[in-house]
Amino acid sequence: MAGAPSPIATTCPYCGVGCGVRARPDQVAGDRSHPANAGRLCVKGSALHETLVPAGRLLRPRVAGREQTWSQALAAAAGAIRQAVAEHGPGSVAFYLSGQLLTEDYYVANKLAKGFIGTPHVDTNSRLCMSSAVAAHKRAFGEDCVPGCYEDLELADLLVLAGSNAAWAHPVLYQRMKAAARAGRKVVVIDPRRTATAELADLHLMLKPGTDTVLFNGLLVWLADQQAVDRVYLARHCNGYDEALASARAAAPSVQAVAASCGLEADDVATFYHWFAVTDRTVTAFSQGINQSVAGTDKGNAIINCHLACGRIGRPGTGPFSLTGQPNAMGGREVGGLANTLAAHMDYDSPGARELVAGFWGAAGIAEGPGLKAVELFEAVHRGEIRVLWVMGTNPAVSLPDSSRVRAALARCPTVIVSDCMADTDTTALADILLPAAGWGEKDGTVTNSERCISRQRQFLPLAGDARPDWWIITALARQLGHGEAFGYRAPVEIFREHAALSALGNHGRRKFDIAALAGLAPQQYDDLAPLQWPVGVDGHGRLTGTPRLFSNGNFATPDGRARLVPVTTVAPRQQTTVAAPLVVNSGRIRDQWHTMTRTALAPRLLAHRPEPFIEVHPADARRLGLQDGDLGQLTGSGNGRFTGRVRLTEGQRPGEVFVPIHWNQRFTGQGLASALVAPVTDPLSGQPEAKHGVASLRPL
Ligand code: SF4
Repeated sequence: MAGAPSPIATTCPYCGVGCGVRARPDQVAGDRSHPANAGRLCVKGSALHETLVPAGRLLRPRVAGREQTWSQALAAAAGAIRQAVAEHGPGSVAFYLSGQLLTEDYYVANKLAKGFIGTPHVDTNSRLCMSSAVAAHKRAFGEDCVPGCYEDLELADLLVLAGSNAAWAHPVLYQRMKAAARAGRKVVVIDPRRTATAELADLHLMLKPGTDTVLFNGLLVWLADQQAVDRVYLARHCNGYDEALASARAAAPSVQAVAASCGLEADDVATFYHWFAVTDRTVTAFSQGINQSVAGTDKGNAIINCHLACGRIGRPGTGPFSLTGQPNAMGGREVGGLANTLAAHMDYDSPGARELVAGFWGAAGIAEGPGLKAVELFEAVHRGEIRVLWVMGTNPAVSLPDSSRVRAALARCPTVIVSDCMADTDTTALADILLPAAGWGEKDGTVTNSERCISRQRQFLPLAGDARPDWWIITALARQLGHGEAFGYRAPVEIFREHAALSALGNHGRRKFDIAALAGLAPQQYDDLAPLQWPVGVDGHGRLTGTPRLFSNGNFATPDGRARLVPVTTVAPRQQTTVAAPLVVNSGRIRDQWHTMTRTALAPRLLAHRPEPFIEVHPADARRLGLQDGDLGQLTGSGNGRFTGRVRLTEGQRPGEVFVPIHWNQRFTGQGLASALVAPVTDPLSGQPEAKHGVASLRPL
C-alpha cells in the first residue's frame, strides 16, 4: 500500500513462546525469520494491532489523583522513598516488577533497589509463574536454566505435557508440537482436566490434583525395576540417585499404589511408564499445573530425577522443559529480579557476589538479602512494614492470592507508586503516584523466551502522551535520588551492554550464562540483533552464535560438576475440601485473553471465544447442586472470596473439581476474582502460590 510504513520486526508481548512479529500500527503478521514461530501467530498475537488504541491509556503522571509534570511526580516519588529510608530504613521500600518488563527495565529496577536504595525487597509477578521451576533447576543443575530448545519438543518420540495446557497458554508452541506428529510419536498429557491440549494426547492421565510427585516417583521406581536407568550416566554425572530412589519407593512402591493415590487406572499408569522406559527421545514439558503448588519445586525435581536417571538431557529430543508463562519471565531471572537473587544469576550467598556486584555498580550500600517473595511481601505491606511500594506493569490487586487482602494492603500502604501504560486497573485505583509507562510498540529493548532466546522488542509507534519507557522512568527517579552517575543511560543499548558485562563477569567460569559477546554491541548492532539463545559465543568468522542445548557434555554447575537427583516426598495440597467448601478450585488461562485483560479486552474479537467469566463443572456435581448449563453460579472460597460465572457443564472436569479463568478483573465485571478463591499458601522453597488448588462451595445465583 502506497505510503504505508514498513513493518518492524519485534516480539509479541504476551506469552513465553516469544513469537517474532512484523508490526505496523495497523497490522501485524508472524515473522517468518523468527526461530520461535517461523511466521505463525496465535489469535492473541494476530490481534495485537487491535489493542493499539488510545482508550484507557495513562497519559500523564498523577499525584494524589491530580495530573502533574514528570518532574513534580518524580520529586514526589523520590521524596517518599527518601523519607521512608530515613525514618524506617531501606527495607521499608519495595519494588514489585513484572514479566512484561523488558530486560533493560528489569536491570535498572534491580540495580536501583538493591544497589542504591539498599532494599532486598524486589520481587515480580514471575513468582506466580515459574519460581518453582527456578528452584528445581537450581537444586538439580546448580543453576537456573532450561536445558533444551523448542526443536526438542518436535524431535521427541515421546512428548509428556505435565500441568500444561499448551494449546491455550502457549498456542504457537502447541501448533509446532501438533505439526510434528508422525507415525510412532506419542503424546502423554498429565492434567486433572481434559483441556484442549488433551486432544493431542495418545494417553491422557486425568490425575487427582496434587499427586504429580507420586506419579513421577512411581516412574523412577519403574525405571529402576525395569533396568531402564542409565547407570553409566548416573555414575559419571549425577549424585543422589540411591536416596531419590529410596524416597520414591517409599512414596510410590508399585503401579497399583500410584494408581490408587492418583485416581488413575493402573493400566494407564503402566502404559505411561512403559513408553517412558523404552523411548530414548523423551521430553517432559511442564508449566503452571506443576509450578503453582505448595510442592511445586518437588514436582519439578521429581520430573528432572526421571530424566537424569535415564541420561535424557542435553541431547536432541530429550530433557525436562519448563514452559515459561510470560514474555520476559526469563529476562527477569537473568538480571536477578527475584527477591532471592542478587543480580545476574548470582544469589546473595554466592561466594563474593555482594562485593563483586557492589564494585561493578559502584554501590556502597548494597542490600543484604534475600528479600521478601511476592506473597510475603504483600503481607509485609499489610503489616505496615513497607512504607513505599513501587508496582511496575502488573496488577497484583487482581492476580495475587487472597486479592481482597492485597487490596487492603495497598490501601494501607503510605505510598503506592504504580507505573503502567493503562490508567484504570484495580491496582492503579489504589495508587498515590501514577507514572505513565510506554506500551508495546512504543518501547525498545530485549526479552528472553522459554528456550533462552534473547529477542528484540522494537519501537514502531510514537510515545502516547507523556508516557516514557520504564527504564527511563527508573533512571530519572534514580537521578532524583542523587544516583545520576550510576544511571546515566541515554538508550537501552547502554543498559543492555552493562547487563551483558555483569552477566559475564559475575558468572566467570559458569559459561551457562555467558553473554559477554554482547557487552560490546554498537547501537546499530543492538538495533539489528537477531534472536539468539544464551549462552552466546562468537564463531571463527566473528559471528554471534547461540546455544540450543545445555549440559550436552554432562557437566553441571554444582561444585563438583554433577547433577543432583533430589529425594521427593509427597506433600498434599495445603487446602483440603471441607463440608463447607467441598469443591477443589483449579484456575488458569483461557485461549484468547492475557493476564487481567487490561490489554486483550481492547480487541472485541478476543472476547468472542469466552465472552464472560465461567465456572466449568462436572455434570454430576451440577445435578447435585441444582445447576444447569448456562445458569449463573457463585463460588465462595474458604476465606469468603467470591467468584460469579456462567456454569459450563463438561465431562472434562473431574467430579468434585471446578475450573475458573484467571483473567476477569473486578473493574471489568464486578463479579469477583479467581484469585479471591486462592489462599495465600506457597511452596516453602520457591514462594510460588498454590493457585491450582483452592477450595470452595458452589450455589446457583
Ligand atoms: Fe504471542 Fe504467545 Fe501467541 Fe506467540 S503464542 S503470538 S508469543 S501469545
